[in-house]
Amino acid sequence: MDKKTAESIWNNCLDVIKDNVNTQNFKTWFEPIKPVKLSSNVLTIQVPSQFFYEWLEEHYITLLKKTIRKELGSDGKLEYSIIMENAYGRTEKPITMKVPTMNSKELKNPSVSMPIDIGSNPIKNPFIIPGLKKVNVESQLNPNYSFEHFVEGDCNRLARSAGYAVSNKPGGTAFNPLLIYGGVGLGKTHLAQAIGIEIKKNYPNKTVLYIQSEKFISQFIDSVKNNNQNDFIHFYQMIDVLIIDDVQYFAGKERTQDVFFHIFNHLHQTGKQLVLTSDRAPVELQGIEQRLLSRFKWGLSADLQTPGLETRIAILEKKIYNEGIELPKEVVEYLAYSITSNVRELEGALISLLAQSSLNKKTITLELAKQMIDKFVKSTAREVSIDYIQKVVCDYFDLPIDLMKSKTRKREVVQARQIAMYFAKNMTKSSLATIGLHCGGKDHATVLHACRTVNNLMDTDKRFRSYIDELEKKISISN
Ligand code: ADP
Ligand code: MG
Repeated sequence: MDKKTAESIWNNCLDVIKDNVNTQNFKTWFEPIKPVKLSSNVLTIQVPSQFFYEWLEEHYITLLKKTIRKELGSDGKLEYSIIMENAYGRTEKPITMKVPTMNSKELKNPSVSMPIDIGSNPIKNPFIIPGLKKVNVESQLNPNYSFEHFVEGDCNRLARSAGYAVSNKPGGTAFNPLLIYGGVGLGKTHLAQAIGIEIKKNYPNKTVLYIQSEKFISQFIDSVKNNNQNDFIHFYQMIDVLIIDDVQYFAGKERTQDVFFHIFNHLHQTGKQLVLTSDRAPVELQGIEQRLLSRFKWGLSADLQTPGLETRIAILEKKIYNEGIELPKEVVEYLAYSITSNVRELEGALISLLAQSSLNKKTITLELAKQMIDKFVKSTAREVSIDYIQKVVCDYFDLPIDLMKSKTRKREVVQARQIAMYFAKNMTKSSLATIGLHCGGKDHATVLHACRTVNNLMDTDKRFRSYIDELEKKISISN
């Protein structure tokens, strides 16, 4: 009898799996898996990412279970070892992806906020009309911006899980302040609000306040004018969870920074939670005083990046589902492939598309989507993306897209890859180096060579030329 190893067991599993999923899916989801360990009845497999693991669990769990049991017996088990690529080099805090669950003790613990003494010394609430007695802080939260509506992806995993941890234990984690930063439309406001909403859900008695930094600034200016700065400061010092959006606007505003510094210190010292967002990393926040910057770094700075294709599709699907509508898959994919800049634009395109179709009573087809996108993004000098070119070329030649992105030198892949490079060169503004990087990690010389080869073939081979013409039509948006 030959000895069972992790490899041999996994190979047997793969044989069965191969018969049960299509080639594309097999290549995408099973070939990258590495068997790493076998101890008695537990097989450990290594998967490239958290997302990958979740995908397997969601889509292939039954198949995996069945095959594992077949190989290892009815109590056979599968363990995943997930490669955590740490793209967030700047934090040294270990982030456990499992979010701590709240225990009942924490829930019962009454929030120990500053006593709000309404009777003897009323604090003016800058949010309410002066003269109103009751200090009743409206959280200023938009219920649509909840965690349920926030799609998790590689682009936001750290920020999201830190935010979620904060929501379960405001002021009680190392993430204080939590600074979320990233470019426009990437979900800073949404995530910051989600934290507030979740805290309100978990701790209804806590005073949560979300505020745009501009509003904070203008309230402060008003308080100076009206000579009630102290009320302003006191008001903010009694908040349990203070969320300030877009703190980059504090830049150059020394007096606002000064007053915020005092508020910050008070809240931090009394264990209150601060959540801040900014459109850039703390190191790049010019015009913000050093003493504030260094405080921002006391907690955690987590960035939001542009979502990858899978996440863009997931976000669209979630929005579509929430709207209670249905869209052809090809349309969703087309949108996700075409709009790569940020989530707000992605949403904008989807909304325009829905509006167009309902106004003109047209069903939403790929055709309509193409026309619309073309108009929608014309102003921003749109170009097709390398990803989209690769997808069209691969569909045309019936190749899996990850092969094109791999380093393989199989003939049919090499040619398809060269064609994709050719189109990327002619139809996008990407540099040769960037194109090479997308197409199997080749260098710029390889891309140049590819373009020459394609040009030569077009001149000499009629059939080849007709492929290229046809492909060009498919790729062009304006059709
Ligand atoms: P920012 O504040 O970074 O400019 P927003 O938070 O306003 O961006 O996000 C822009 C839009 O994109 C919002 O409608 C938001 O709901 C949506 N959005 C951003 N990220 C996500 C995500 N991960 N999942 C779902 N929707 C998102
Ligand atoms: Mg915002």
